[in-house]
Amino acid sequence: MRPRDLKLPDERHPEKAHRPDNAQPKKPKWIRVRAPGGAGYQDTHKVIREHGLATVCEEAGCPNVGECWAHGHATMMIMGEICTRGCTFCNVATGKPQALDVFEPGRVADAVQKLGLNHVVITSVDRDDLEDGGAEHFAQTIRAVRHRAPETTIEVLTPDFLKCPASALETVVAAKPDVFNHNLETVPGLYPEVRPGARYFHSLRLLQRVKEIDPAMFTKSGIMVGLGEERQAVLQVMDDLRAADVDFLTIGQYLQPTPKHHAVAEFVTPEDFAAYEKAAYGKGFLMVSATPLTRSSYHAGDDFARLRAAREARLAGV
Ligand code: SF4
Repeated sequence: MRPRDLKLPDERHPEKAHRPDNAQPKKPKWIRVRAPGGAGYQDTHKVIREHGLATVCEEAGCPNVGECWAHGHATMMIMGEICTRGCTFCNVATGKPQALDVFEPGRVADAVQKLGLNHVVITSVDRDDLEDGGAEHFAQTIRAVRHRAPETTIEVLTPDFLKCPASALETVVAAKPDVFNHNLETVPGLYPEVRPGARYFHSLRLLQRVKEIDPAMFTKSGIMVGLGEERQAVLQVMDDLRAADVDFLTIGQYLQPTPKHHAVAEFVTPEDFAAYEKAAYGKGFLMVSATPLTRSSYHAGDDFARLRAAREARLAGV
């Protein structure tokens, strides 16, 4: 069988074949990544395969996979590899998902222990077919990791639970992840074309509710730039996130996975990323990561340690 990443776009995404083709522009010189390979990468690959797990690193075609996996850092993607939404930036397949695997939380926990992770990021596809959006499965996975690897800090990157009862979010928060992350992904004006199944103010409110339920829980969100957004709109997103009391903001360059995905409107320069980072700190975020290769889970473990230190310093009035 050909490896997943060697499949042609129409083979990988037959459900996206009706979309128009968007040419994929050449990447600028500041977007250079380490090629996957080496002993560390192979070890991570082996653990993931042996435990029958999916990762967003592979499913999203993340450019950082060579670097992250060399250090054993993989972001677990639970509840299958098929998403019920069809966001135009996302490389994950859209369709009818399979039934939940009740043994998956245990396998995630085993893999976390085997990889010796200090910090794990757990995400999922959207499961609009489930009444609770998969909230209980998230909670079970958090509890399984806590049991098997009590020293590991846990970050969840969840769907928006758009059509779920309020108890869905409460279920995830009650399982006490260390960081609750939900990405806004883009500015509100681009939602209809980039994230058509989602609602900007619902996602914002979700993050705000996490802080209301558990004020001690760190909250985090991220957007991609280069999708055609105006700078002013990005600054407004920062204000909205601060109004929702979000602690940590990530901003990274959108990269187009295939011609069937949203076109790259521009490659934002490293200088403009630095300006976004400065503006975000000025608006009061505890932590900001804004570089072309920033992804929600990129260096998430190191960032978590810095996030904790930043909160302690703020509380101490330093
Ligand atoms: S940045 Fe996140 S998704 Fe990308 S390879 Fe690293 S851990 Fe995986």
